[in-house]
Amino acid sequence: MDPTATQGHSKEWSPESWKTFPIKQQPDYADPEAVKKAVSKVRQLPPLVHHKEIRSLKNYLAKAAQGKAFLLQGGDCAERFIDCSQKPIEDKFKILLQMSLVIIYGARVPVVRLARMAGQFAKPRTSNYETVNGNRIPSFKGDNINDYDISKREPDPDRMVQAYFHSAATLNYIRAMISGGVADLHNPRAWILDHVKEDATRREYETMIEQITDNISFFDLLHDHRQDENLSKVEFFTSHEGLLLEFESALTKQIGGKHYNLGAHFLWIGDRTRDIDGAHVEYFRGIANPIGIKLGPTSEPDIIIKLIHLLNPDKEEGKLTLITRYGADQVEKLLPIHIQAAKSTGVPVLWICDPCHGNTETSPSGVKTRNVERMSLELIRTFQIHQKEGSRLGGVHLEMTGDNVTECIGGSIHLDHPDLTRNYETFCDPRLNYTQSLDIAFTISQHLKE
Ligand code: PEP
Ligand code: MN
Repeated sequence: MDPTATQGHSKEWSPESWKTFPIKQQPDYADPEAVKKAVSKVRQLPPLVHHKEIRSLKNYLAKAAQGKAFLLQGGDCAERFIDCSQKPIEDKFKILLQMSLVIIYGARVPVVRLARMAGQFAKPRTSNYETVNGNRIPSFKGDNINDYDISKREPDPDRMVQAYFHSAATLNYIRAMISGGVADLHNPRAWILDHVKEDATRREYETMIEQITDNISFFDLLHDHRQDENLSKVEFFTSHEGLLLEFESALTKQIGGKHYNLGAHFLWIGDRTRDIDGAHVEYFRGIANPIGIKLGPTSEPDIIIKLIHLLNPDKEEGKLTLITRYGADQVEKLLPIHIQAAKSTGVPVLWICDPCHGNTETSPSGVKTRNVERMSLELIRTFQIHQKEGSRLGGVHLEMTGDNVTECIGGSIHLDHPDLTRNYETFCDPRLNYTQSLDIAFTISQHLKE
């Protein structure tokens, strides 16, 4: 069969055409009228992002695919409404800036910052139910759907409206920090998070920023004390998994013959919802945003080929990002075959590595964790395999936070399993903490340079 065929997705597409396709991971709302009401409210609210920003991100992603930039995508596994407040937003913003600086300075390559923020509120789950204190209750599916509180686990459509406003508040504060100069490269010392005590990685970062600050002052001196404006402003983009399709289609607007999802700059299809003949692929194939798709151990090369043709039919640069997440043990077996499959299509793609989701393990205390060394190993192997296959790793996708949490083990602060009980705060998957995030940034900058 022709791999470029539309696989049962007809020529006609609309923001609602996904409704006639089989769908996974959606809430079972009890009241269809309440869903209609929430969706029409979300539809009526103003866009969160501008389509020109979306187009600008697509251009940056095209550069990343060509090796002229590197994509840093990161944030919480699941954002929470309760964390929509000044400090957590500032801390996530600052750690992403610090990591980008480590990569820019170490590898001498521009970094595109794409936060898993301002909308990462819907989670796919392996099981619809979990057992808490011997009781079987619906699983927590993200604040867009239900409450973490075990007495409020029924899906509530009004949460879509709340998710919109929490995304808007988060994005507004990010935009305020940028226009207020928080991201000014003349002052990277301001990004050091005050809760971080002395440790080797922090010292390494401080030494690096001393060198950078010297270089920048020298540069400004050369320009007659006029500060370089390019260093004073920063571009920052938002992303989330496009899981809850009622919500996503309500945020989709037609502009000049194209449909944009104006709820985020970039959306991706998760590992559990990338069925070729499913509703998510149908929705994603019609939007003009740059989009991602997770590839994992269950991805089949012939399906990857069909997905690439279906999701980037016009062979646009920067349009399609493949986010690989195999785990350190399986990456060597699977990635080369997947690279060859993608190459055979002749369609340009950006490859990025998610070293988180294939390396999740259960600690002896029963909580989910990840080992920073296993994550680094997957990342390094991914760099090497791309090089060997004549391809290029153009970015990374991370679950991380600026906080001092103890959710992942290893890294330069040598967290071990017993430490996990100290500050384990995630409501979903374990995140790299501040120091572990910088560790990974140093690993990236070293291997990107090589
Ligand atoms: C995630 O990114 O949080 C996630 C659920 O990942 P995946 O779809 O790769 O399992
Ligand atoms: Mn996750």
